[in-house]
Amino acid sequence: MNKPNFSFEFFPTKTDDGVTKLSQTFDALNELSPAFFSVTYGAGGTTRERTIGIVETLQKRSNTPIAPHISCIGDDKAVIAELLDYYKSIGINRIVALRGDLPSGQVGMGELPFAVDLVHFIREHTGDHFHIEVAAYPEMHPQARSFDADIQNLINKFNAGANSAITQFFYNAESYLYLRDALEKRGIDTSLNRLVAGIMPIINSSNLIRFADGCGADIPRYIRRQLSDYGDDRKAIREFGFEVVHRLCEILINEGVPALHFYTMNRIEPNKRLVESLGLTSISTKA
Ligand code: FAD
Repeated sequence: MNKPNFSFEFFPTKTDDGVTKLSQTFDALNELSPAFFSVTYGAGGTTRERTIGIVETLQKRSNTPIAPHISCIGDDKAVIAELLDYYKSIGINRIVALRGDLPSGQVGMGELPFAVDLVHFIREHTGDHFHIEVAAYPEMHPQARSFDADIQNLINKFNAGANSAITQFFYNAESYLYLRDALEKRGIDTSLNRLVAGIMPIINSSNLIRFADGCGADIPRYIRRQLSDYGDDRKAIREFGFEVVHRLCEILINEGVPALHFYTMNRIEPNKRLVESLGLTSISTKA
């Protein structure tokens, strides 16, 4: 059985202390030999300087590719072009292209209202320079007109030039498999346009429920119930969360998932534990 690739996602921290800690987390996770790290971006440019700063810092620390996220909603083409040119100039060749969600109070979708427009624009502006990842939704994007329309939107993003898609997090493997098969049925070769599974380790019950409610991801009843029963018992949540996410990853690996992308929440554990226990890394952990 093929081992899937794996990658890690960070969000930009607010303080210098946070950057130092993130660099330490980067070093620890980088020892596992991931395919790349990605760094999120606040839509409308709300984290522009911080995202760029973290990308520069991490880029200098090793040869592992860094993939900045870039969003289009509310931004002008000129701003996005400048960012793309800058990333290209510092040796970035991988990007995660998103629409983003407008910060509250901000109106106007900008010149590129949807991610598909951004993908077209990146290809127009920089040709084949960047490997482009886009977002995919095994449980449907909350604003989509219908599930079919959402699947078609993903296909449009591939047709516009996206190389692969990273999914929103999910705990029901069947939803990922349904989306993968739906793409194949509609003529997408998922061995070329890869569907990377986004994996959210379970660390903290209230944060997880808040994220899931915000992005329309489903937390199955048995998970919600167990988390609620564990209350403040962080050790029990950690162990239960590890078991659930490990099992999810195993099912996906048995189904031939091409890659797993971990939403790390900027933490070493439990991401390191999952990658090691799933046998994804080629580095011996016994040394
Ligand atoms: P799109 O693909 O444009 O889709 C958005 C919605 O519009 C969907 O419902 C789609 O069906 C619908 N749609 C598309 N085209 C049309 C049309 N022509 N007419 C009507 N409806 C249409 N957000 C951030 O702000 N920063 C990040 O760094 C970030 N990273 C993310 C990473 C991953 C892997 C994922 C899965 C999400 C991430 N997000 C991030 C969240 C993302 O920005 C939101 O989910 C956002 O609401 C949609 O972005 P998208 O790129 O999927 O948009």
